[in-house]
Amino acid sequence: MDDLLAGYRRFRHAGWPERRQVFEGLSEHGQVPSALVVACIDSRVDPAVIFDAAPGQMLTVRNVANLVPPYAPDVAYHGTSAALEFGIRVLEVPHLVVLGHGQCGGVKTLLEGAPAIAGDFVGQWMSIAEPARVKSLRCDSVQAQQHLCEYEVVKISLANLLTFPWIAERVASGKLTLHGAWFAIKTGELMVLGPDGEFSAA
Ligand SMILES: [Zn+2]
Repeated sequence: MDDLLAGYRRFRHAGWPERRQVFEGLSEHGQVPSALVVACIDSRVDPAVIFDAAPGQMLTVRNVANLVPPYAPDVAYHGTSAALEFGIRVLEVPHLVVLGHGQCGGVKTLLEGAPAIAGDFVGQWMSIAEPARVKSLRCDSVQAQQHLCEYEVVKISLANLLTFPWIAERVASGKLTLHGAWFAIKTGELMVLGPDGEFSAA
C-alpha cells in the first residue's frame, strides 16, 4: 500500500494542480465519455495509458480476458453486463472498444486449463470463449495458438455484444460503433480489427 500512497502524493503534488480544472469541470457538469473500453484486468494493459486518455474521456470495464458474456438478464450478478448497460443505455457512449492483448493469462488458462487454485470462477468465465480455443487448435505452435486465441476472444466479445438488444439496435441505427483492438505489451503496438475480419497496425 505504501507505493500506492506514494503515487497518490505525487498525483496530489503534480497531477492534481495540472488537471484541477478538468476534474472540477467534470464534477460540475458530469461526464460525457466518448467511448467505453472493455479490457483485461492485466496490470500491463491500462486503456488510459494506451489511448493517452484524459479523465472523463472514456469508461473502462476490466475483467479476465476482456470478455463480454452473452445477454442473459437473469438473477445472477452480471458485473460486465451492468457496466455495459450503464455506459450504453444511460450515458449513451457512441463508441465501444474491445481491447485484447498479447500474453493474456486468461487466454492461457483457456488453452491450458485453469489452475486448481483459480477453480471457483476463472474456468467458468473463460468458457465464454470456448469457440476461440477450438479455432486456435489449428495452429501448430503454442505461441501461434495463444496469439490466434487472443484475436478470436476479441471477435467473440464483439459478437456477444450484439446479443444485447439495446446494443444491436444502436449499432443498426448508427448511434453506436463497435471496434476490436489488440495491444502488444512487448512492443507497445496496437492492432485494430478491420471490416474484413483481419487485425492490422493502427
Ligand atoms: Zn489478459
